[in-house]
Parts: sequence; C-alpha cells; structure tokens
Amino acid sequence: MTEESLNAPVVAGTRAMQRCIVTSCGAMYGVHERIYVCRRCGGPLEIGVVAGETLNSASLRDAWNLRKTSGEPRDQSGVWRFRELLPFDDTTPIVTLLEGGTPLYDAPRCADYTGLRALRLKHQGCNPTGSFKDTGMTVAVTHAAMLGARTAVCASTGNTAASLAAYSARAGLKCAILVPQRQITAAKLAQSLDYGAMVCEIAGNFDDCMQLIQELGDDPSIYVANSINPFRIEGQKTVAFELMEQCRWRLPDHVVVPGGNLGNSTALGKGFSELKELGLIDRIPKLNVIQAEGAAPFARLFAETVSKSETEPELLSISFLAEQNPQTLATAIKIGAPVSWQKSLRAVMRSGGRVTTVSEQEIADAKAVIGRDGIGCEPASAAAIAGIRKLVRARHICREDSVVAVLTGHVLKDPDYVANYHRGTLALGKTALLGAFRNMPKQVAANKSAILSLLSHNG
Ligand SMILES: [Zn+2]
Repeated sequence: MTEESLNAPVVAGTRAMQRCIVTSCGAMYGVHERIYVCRRCGGPLEIGVVAGETLNSASLRDAWNLRKTSGEPRDQSGVWRFRELLPFDDTTPIVTLLEGGTPLYDAPRCADYTGLRALRLKHQGCNPTGSFKDTGMTVAVTHAAMLGARTAVCASTGNTAASLAAYSARAGLKCAILVPQRQITAAKLAQSLDYGAMVCEIAGNFDDCMQLIQELGDDPSIYVANSINPFRIEGQKTVAFELMEQCRWRLPDHVVVPGGNLGNSTALGKGFSELKELGLIDRIPKLNVIQAEGAAPFARLFAETVSKSETEPELLSISFLAEQNPQTLATAIKIGAPVSWQKSLRAVMRSGGRVTTVSEQEIADAKAVIGRDGIGCEPASAAAIAGIRKLVRARHICREDSVVAVLTGHVLKDPDYVANYHRGTLALGKTALLGAFRNMPKQVAANKSAILSLLSHNG
C-alpha cells in the first residue's frame, strides 16, 4: 500500500467555511476566524465542507476502509480516518490520541429489558479519556493550534474538561477549565488534574460556568472548546461514519442518545446528513434524544412547541426556556441551558425522531441492566436505554426495529454512583432510589466452606 493510495481521494479541505445556521441570515466566515456565534445575527455556526472534484462516494468508502490497516496516526484515529469530510487540508498538523474506533456491542439483556428483539450499543466511553468528547476535542484542539491560540478553555460537568485537558497537554497548550464546585465526580476531576489543566471550581452550576466561558471567549489569546464551537461537532460527526461501517452500511431505524448540552445529537445528525448528501445512505435514521426528568428543557421545548408544528419552524422565532435549577444524579446531562439546542432541534426534526424524559429510577435500573450485559457506562449513558424502553412501550419504536444506543461515558467516570446503587444508598436529595437490580457485597468468613455455602445459596 503506497502512501499516495492511502490518502486518495484528496479533497480541498481549504474550501471549508463556517456558516450561520439561521436560514434567513446565512452569513459565512473563514475557518481561520476565531468566532463561536454569528456576528450578524448571534445565531449558532456550523462548518460546511465543499467537496473537491475527486470526491466520489465509492472510492471514499474504500479509502476509509483501507486506512484501518495503516500504521499512520492519522489513519489509526477513528476521526482523522474520515478526513475528506473534515475542514482542514492535508498538511495541517493534527493533535490526536488515536480516538474513535470504539466498539458496537450486541446487548441481548438490554434488548429484553427494553422490549426489542435486538439492541446494539455504540460505546463512546471507550475513547482515550473515557468519553465521547474525545472525537470532537481532537478536531477543536487541532484548530486551536492552527490558529496559534495560547490557552484553551471550557466549562464542563467533567467529561469535556478531562478531554480538553488531555488534548491540550498533547498540543502543549495551556488549559483552564471551569467546573461547578462539588458537582463533578472525583474521577473526572482527577483526570483533569493529572493532565495538568488549571481547574477553576466555580461557586455556581454548569450554566453559570458556560456564561463565564462566553465572556472569556472575547479575549484573543483564548480558545473556547465547548460544543458551541462548531469544530467540536465536526469531530463528533465521524461517529455516524464509523457506525455505518460497523453496520455494514445497513442503516438502523433509530439512533438514541442521552441529551445534555446537545452536541452529540447535533453531530450525529450532521454526520448522517453528509452521508446522505454523498449518496452513501438513502435516508437518515430517526434520531431520539433522552433527557433526565429533572434537567429536561429540550424535551419540554419539543413537547410544547415543536410536536404541534407540521413544518420545520424558523429557529430564530423559537424562544427557549432554560431550566434554572437542573437536578439529576446523571451529572453529565445536568444542564439547564444547552448551547446546541437549535442545531439539535433541527437534526431531530429532520430525522423524524423524538425527545423524551426518563426518571432517576429508570436511569439507575437501566444502568444496572447494561452492566448485566458485561458493559459498563456512566449514569447519563443509561438514560438512552431507559428512553428506548419508554419509546417501545409508547410504540414509537417497534419491537422489530433496528436500534443503536450511544453510550457516552465509561463506568469508572462515576464509581460512587454504581456502588451506592448496589448497596441501596443511592439518593437524589431526600428521594431514595431503590436498586431493582441490586447486587450487594456479601460479608463472608475467611474459609472455603463458607464461600461454597454462599455460592450454593445464590444459584
Ligand atoms: Zn447569522
């Protein structure tokens, strides 16, 4: 295999631009401009990559596939392997930890629990820092380095912080992260400290941190790496490409994701749309977003406004009501003012999917069922499985449908939650959460017969 054949077909990534998603505005900006929202109307931005003339879908699929056997870091990364659809030219130095390439598991016990014949789980928690954020961060930090930024910053419930800290360390950038005081897990905090980031614990919630980040973004030395940044979405969209390869290009009927800041659903929607434009798929799977009941501003918006509308509403005309005091033990989705709600809403609506909520108890039990399939995830990820169960019961998903749920974070992101569930000490405020699938540790005498006796009494 020659270097040349691995890299073909080459696309002029320099033809990428940032564009405002508000259709009545449509302003465009170069990829070297350090902006995060439209200067003209304040709307969110997305990246458009204009395909080069050599791009054809069959050769593109072959090139992506061939790279799996290459030793080059750019080919081994499950993000940069799809670089024809990323907004950089081939000479841009990349910042990578060989992210992506995550497994797609069959989950028979989860399928039974949700009422499906089969269910597959795309485990984004198997990324280098243990969450789906890495696929976006490799692209954002590459962009930060390209622009010559000195410091990368983000607000975070923990996963984004850990990811940005790692990629900034990799790039030699300073990194400052804003986290809500005493509201992120010890494991996530430990990761950021270990990667050398300056961790600022803010006396407020995630949304307060996000507000501060938007103010800091005015400083020219600072690069904002939250998912308001459209380059993050570019990396995360490659999950759709990888998933389709793993499904042998047979499209699932439904893709289901937990919803916090809504970058994940935005990115998947964009990824599938681009594959459809290229003719690699002929439709888009229904994209369903699941929120925790106590942090569900997007589900409320969907129920009250959008599901009554026949046509896609103009995004500028929709007013979004933030949740002032979001509450859930699934800290990764404990967000009241998601920055990507407009882009996510557009993606969900165009796909024909739904947005719904699940209770804390449903999330906790679903998480334990995922564990019984031998697969660990953080609590927020389990919202997707709990959501599927609810959508099947409501007949929005049929038993025979092919369904993929995206797990967003690793089980070791929040071990206290897991231990408390199984010990029966999990609670949100004064509300205790019962462990329907509880697996208590046993106190046993230090001898063989005691252990054998216990084993015989437990089947
Ligand atoms: Zn605009």
